[in-house]
Amino acid sequence: MSEMWHSEKNDDGILRVTIDRKDRPVNALSRSIMEELRELVRSIRDDSSIRGVLFQSGKPGVFIAGADITEFEDLTDKAAAAEVSTFGQRVFQELEDLKVPTVALISGACLGGGLEFALACRYRVASTHEKTKLGLPEVQLGLLPGWGGTVRLPRQIGLIDALPLVLSGRQLGGFQARSKGVVHEVVAPEALASVGEKILKTHHEFGSASKLFRQLKKPGWQKFIEGISAVQKFALKKARQQVMAKTHGHYPAPLMIIETFRKGLGADDKLQFKIEADGISELAANPVTRECIRLFFLSEEAKKPPEELSVKFDAKELKQAAVLGAGAMGAGIALLLARKGVATRLKDIKSEFVARGVKTVRDLLAKDTQRKKLTKRQAEEIFDRLSPTTDYRGLKNADVVIEAVVEVTDIKRQVFAELAAATNSKTVLATNTSSLLVSEIARDVPHPERVVGLHFFNPPHQMPLVEVIRTEQTSDEALAKAFAVVQRLGKTPVVVGDCAGFLVNRLLGPYMNEAGFLLAEVPDPMEIDKAAVDFGMPMGPLALSDLVGLDVAAHVADNLYEAYGERMKPAAIWGALKQLRAKLGSQPKLLTKGGKAVQESVLRSITELRKSNGSASGARLSREAIAQRLVFPVINEAAICLAEGVARRPEDIDLAMVFGTGFAPFRGGPLQYAQSIGIQKVVDGLHELAKTHPHLAPSDALVEYARRGTFADASSTAKGNNNSVETSRVAG
Ligand code: NAD
Repeated sequence: MSEMWHSEKNDDGILRVTIDRKDRPVNALSRSIMEELRELVRSIRDDSSIRGVLFQSGKPGVFIAGADITEFEDLTDKAAAAEVSTFGQRVFQELEDLKVPTVALISGACLGGGLEFALACRYRVASTHEKTKLGLPEVQLGLLPGWGGTVRLPRQIGLIDALPLVLSGRQLGGFQARSKGVVHEVVAPEALASVGEKILKTHHEFGSASKLFRQLKKPGWQKFIEGISAVQKFALKKARQQVMAKTHGHYPAPLMIIETFRKGLGADDKLQFKIEADGISELAANPVTRECIRLFFLSEEAKKPPEELSVKFDAKELKQAAVLGAGAMGAGIALLLARKGVATRLKDIKSEFVARGVKTVRDLLAKDTQRKKLTKRQAEEIFDRLSPTTDYRGLKNADVVIEAVVEVTDIKRQVFAELAAATNSKTVLATNTSSLLVSEIARDVPHPERVVGLHFFNPPHQMPLVEVIRTEQTSDEALAKAFAVVQRLGKTPVVVGDCAGFLVNRLLGPYMNEAGFLLAEVPDPMEIDKAAVDFGMPMGPLALSDLVGLDVAAHVADNLYEAYGERMKPAAIWGALKQLRAKLGSQPKLLTKGGKAVQESVLRSITELRKSNGSASGARLSREAIAQRLVFPVINEAAICLAEGVARRPEDIDLAMVFGTGFAPFRGGPLQYAQSIGIQKVVDGLHELAKTHPHLAPSDALVEYARRGTFADASSTAKGNNNSVETSRVAG
């Protein structure tokens, strides 16, 4: 009895295979499932009464989600990885070699091994279902497609189109897949089976079903040029340059993908498959791949509600929501809710502000329809779920209200008082504040147990992380519901304590502040950003400060100093830049346009500061030394957060920093990085730095973790069990 491939043959000679893994909520390709597929394919080959095969999933929203990644976890041995690849390649080759036509009827996720399976079928039809996504996302796990994807995708759509898809791991909706030629047709989900039958019938009549499909628009001359080997080599060279510029060579997978394509040029199938298997076996053993896979598991783990919660809330139960404030954040959050089928009111104080929010939503939807991520109809349906408003009517049955109004304590308190009256006592009231304490906002709210923080990052439609902030009063029920909101939105929730900066901004604070100290010290300030990027950050702290804006950065810095004292004392340069701001009348940028140099006016401020301190610029520091200076204080603060219980486990800190700030993913996050170089090395480094910069002294918490050699099992070193700012001061 098959665990996933359930076949049924009718008198018409068509074998209908329902893909439905009985032991899992999703269809994933494990070793045993692949062995079953091989048996099925062989039985089809040996049964002359079968005239065609239709593959369709029995699980709504999933075709085949990919290989069973739990089996990759321990796959670090090169030979074993090559064997897994070769075995899968052979099974799919047998599928491709079948004499009878095969059709993959794709509705829902068709990713990685799932798409490689579909590419081995003779025809592919995608449905318009909103969950239909096709792609080869292996690169995101530090791998490459190892079951023929690097061979069949370029064969199907050409190297020039296949390369960016494999390099980015981008997932295509049905229409996008159609326009790239990955699938032959797109139809409504309910039409899939009948279209599949029609394809088989036409194939039998004419030897091919291609007459059924609209031909792709790519002109013949373009196809010809794209097929020229010199053009392909040039494209590969360019791709390599782009990858190096973006990743600084930190990630072996994209480089290996390019290499695999390059070596495969002109090679026969057999050799191409071997090149692919060699590539994957090299990558499987690479430590960067292990970190990428670890992060994947952490993010999956994070999506499960905390076990200690006494109540559970099913995300599907979320029906009605409201968002207050139709600004940059509010409009984005409201759109996220509407996209996931939640009826959402979007409130602001004036109709022109509401209209501005509605325009933001419209523009974002228009972009998605242009990119064929949504049909016009889907976009309209999403838009119709939004009710723009300037009053509090209709909130009595809301499951959750997310407040995203201006960052002013009194206004937020006023809004929460009004909300308390407009909602029922079970409605969860969430604030998206980035710098105020949730408990302060909740202070006078009746039933404060229903108040939580939901801290989205900007822009909300792109950033994967949401901090779920629990105050001392938040009930399990409210936390479970807030957590479910984040699950429903497909984001990654991390539960954190209610303290200044919460987790991510609190850890980012010392990093940005140290960049401020360095700005006044190092002879060439651009080295600061270069060192951070070399370390693996997506951008340097100076560029980040320009992105966030000096005003916001200064506000956060002041907040953190007030809460945590000397170790977060703002660098003097920030004060000098505030003066520059007053002189200019607007916030200055640190870097010139394009980010290649520090602004003249900022350099003058640095010189003046040095003069007033009587200090010259410091000695030239190596980039490694600069990176340590930036990152060690983050690790120090992370250790304090862990000891205080602001974060529940070290993995949450790593995940939050990678997903919230882009902290060098291949290093696994700040604590994993500290663990990899030795926690004691961080302690020693901070002791050394503290000789000239006393605020950098290692915390008691970090020293204790170093003594134990691990960050695991935070509870035994916790210095307090609450999340209050008071505790933070003690731990520093
Ligand atoms: P914004 O200024 O773009 O929008 C705020 C909106 O709130 C405005 O449209 C304003 O008219 C409206 N508003 C003011 N008082 C209101 C009231 N009483 N009722 C309803 N609406 C009211 O601000 P934003 O950037 O969207 O930030 C909103 C919140 O999100 C703030 O708390 C901010 O700290 C937080 N946040 C911002 C970012 C970011 O990067 N922008 C990131 C995370 C969190």
